[in-house]
Amino acid sequence: MKGLKSFALRLHIPEDFAERLRLEQAKDFSRIIIAISLLGLSTTCLLFLEFQNEPHVLLHGALMLAVVLCYLALIARARSWLLCRDPTGADASLYIGRMMRLSALLGALWSILLILLLRHESGSQLALLYGVMVGCLVTPAMMSPLSCAVAYWLPISVGTVLALIAAPHPQILTLLALLSFIALTGGCIVFINQRLNERVIGTIRLEENAELIKLLLRDFEESSSDWLWETNAKMELQRVSPRLAQVVQRPAASLSGHFPDALLGEVMDSACHPDAQVERLRRVLEERLPFRDLVVPAVIAGEERYWSLTGKPIFDKFGRFAGYRGVGSDITGQRRQQEQIAFLARHDGLTKLANRVLFNEVLHHACETVAEAGVALLCLDLDQFKAVNDTLGHATGDAVLVAVAERLRGCLRERDVACRLGGDEFAIIVMSDDVTEIGAVAARIVERVSRPYQFDGQLVQIGTSIGISRAPQDGGDADALIKAADLALYRAKTDGRGLWRFYDLGMDERLRERRALQAALAQALPRGEFVLEYQPIVDLTDLRILGAEALLRWRHPERGLLAPDQFIAIAEEAGLIGPIGEWVMQQACLEAARWPEHIRIAVNLSPLQFRTAGLVETILQALHNAGVNPRRLELEITETAMLETSKQTTEALWDLHGKGVHIALDDFGTGYSSLSYLQRFPFDKIKIDRSFIRDLGHEKGDSLIILAIIGLAERLNMIATAEGVETSEQALLLTSYGCAQAQGHLFHRALPPETFAEAVAADMRIYDWQDAGFQLNA
Ligand code: C2E
Ligand code: CA
Ligand code: CA
Repeated sequence: MKGLKSFALRLHIPEDFAERLRLEQAKDFSRIIIAISLLGLSTTCLLFLEFQNEPHVLLHGALMLAVVLCYLALIARARSWLLCRDPTGADASLYIGRMMRLSALLGALWSILLILLLRHESGSQLALLYGVMVGCLVTPAMMSPLSCAVAYWLPISVGTVLALIAAPHPQILTLLALLSFIALTGGCIVFINQRLNERVIGTIRLEENAELIKLLLRDFEESSSDWLWETNAKMELQRVSPRLAQVVQRPAASLSGHFPDALLGEVMDSACHPDAQVERLRRVLEERLPFRDLVVPAVIAGEERYWSLTGKPIFDKFGRFAGYRGVGSDITGQRRQQEQIAFLARHDGLTKLANRVLFNEVLHHACETVAEAGVALLCLDLDQFKAVNDTLGHATGDAVLVAVAERLRGCLRERDVACRLGGDEFAIIVMSDDVTEIGAVAARIVERVSRPYQFDGQLVQIGTSIGISRAPQDGGDADALIKAADLALYRAKTDGRGLWRFYDLGMDERLRERRALQAALAQALPRGEFVLEYQPIVDLTDLRILGAEALLRWRHPERGLLAPDQFIAIAEEAGLIGPIGEWVMQQACLEAARWPEHIRIAVNLSPLQFRTAGLVETILQALHNAGVNPRRLELEITETAMLETSKQTTEALWDLHGKGVHIALDDFGTGYSSLSYLQRFPFDKIKIDRSFIRDLGHEKGDSLIILAIIGLAERLNMIATAEGVETSEQALLLTSYGCAQAQGHLFHRALPPETFAEAVAADMRIYDWQDAGFQLNA
């Protein structure tokens, strides 16, 4: 029995289905066994009626009663099983086991009954008995599970064979027919049970799949932003889900149109052509091809969104196209994020201009296609930007950069590209080979960028210098162009501020020269190649020497005596100005110590010296070491240096000023005359730049400016000093304007220390003056 059971279970039944299968079998068996039992009961009654008058009625009657009881037991068990709620697999196994034993018992009872009856039949009863035999043999063929069917079939088969053999007139042909019939029913039992099992398993699988699919779909529609779509063969949308209607923001009923047009809205590219991706989708659909993650734009309630669509064509069993089925998801957020990331990777976060990455790409590309169209590279450097950052703070600095970027955009045509390479460094790629046009762009930029900016009521003034290189003239590739533009920029800055310069070949030569000078400069201090000359500063009322400005000279071993204009900028660039300035200060103080007390010493300070720590200490130390009263020292600071000083350096100036050191504003009038700093710091002196003095008497405008400066100096209690006075006419005019002091070749050139000392001692006068008709106190 046990073997049979496990054989039945193993009959192509996967283990995970066994339990469900047993439950199904138990249910099916219960239903069929009730029908079989009812039929069996009626058959038993008929037999009883037929054989009640025969001999051995008691034995036959008892056996028939046992059969009836067996049937009743089967019916009762089956009924209670059918009424049983939530039976388990184990219950089913138990139940089937019991039913199997009952079936076997029933089969055995029937066998015995048939053997007995067949022995005592009278001719007319034979047909009935044969009919019952056949009926009994057929019955298990309708039973499932196999265990029960076999349990019933086996005794019946044996019983009927024995009955035929034991019959009073055994018929060999009937026996053979019975045997083949037994074989047939046996085969049927196995075959039918197998098919039944398969069907049950199929149903279970189908149900489970359907359940799983339903769960997945619900989960899919509820939890994800995705939706399902489906069309018929005419590509009309079918079964529009609430989720899809929600995505499209239209009632589901209105979405019966054609896919994809009914969903996407009017999608056009910027040139008003149907979008390329949508066209691609249409082509794929027409060719009935599957597609995966095809991203198309959609216009939903006027807003552009992006969908990722996946779809598969469906074909019916005849291979005819039946429609499409697929999923879609809104990837607008993802896409925007990607676009944002892509944008940030190639643009400057602050100004939104192209960054170095994009700059390199565009420039490389432009250089490669230079044969088609010329390209020019403009490298920009903002003048005074550092001063803005230091004095007004980084927030204002950032605002300036954003405003500059905006103005740059306004200066360019659409095909030109403006980039921020970092800090206050900008570059512009101009697609043109027309020098005049490129020059015009540069001029426009310089003009626009230097217009005043206003932030929170604060006026900010900056400028820009531009270096320009062109391809292919100045370099065939991006690196060469950048290098050339940098050289040109360098030149533009050294030539003055607010200028633009085109690269020329000489710049390379000058660069090499600079490098050589830089290397030599590093050795100049230890080798003692620096000397100071002193240019007297005179009182314009009596032409007496009031003091001297210390002017640096470099005795270059090969080039001879070099003027500061030729090396100060290089020293600043090479970071050598600190030690050089320190040496100048010490040397000038030592020299001044030998002069009479009333002679002052003026020393030039580079803007960069302000940024070196301990400037105040260095100066005070130099004065102290030489034993010079701080009141005799005058520091000359250019307007530009003043603009670039930070709060910390203004404090240093105050500090020195407090110790009695005089502070003079050098080269006045050449910088960006935002005169606000004149109020921030109490200068003792203004030195009017020699460019104003040069044309004095010729240019009316300059006279007015000089008059204004002298008036300003007077008002702010500062001494006006004129630089570069070369003619007595200039001196006369300056005196008449009320200028207090002057300096220039007319009086003295810069003198070596000994000569200066002699001049002071003699309190030299320029007697030539009298010859020129110059009157003192004119
Ligand atoms: P600066 O402070 O304006 O100095 C005056 C310059 O004008 C000197 O040129 C002087 O020789 C020149 N000069 C004086 N009188 C006349 C004149 O009548 N006509 C003409 N055409 N020029 C005259 P130098 O010595 O070549 O100095 C140039 C600049 O170098 C100075 O301009 C100053 O800014 C800077 N410099 C000189 N010495 C030092 C120094 O020790 N340290 C720093 N940081 N800068 C210095
Ligand atoms: Ca000076
Ligand atoms: Ca000067």
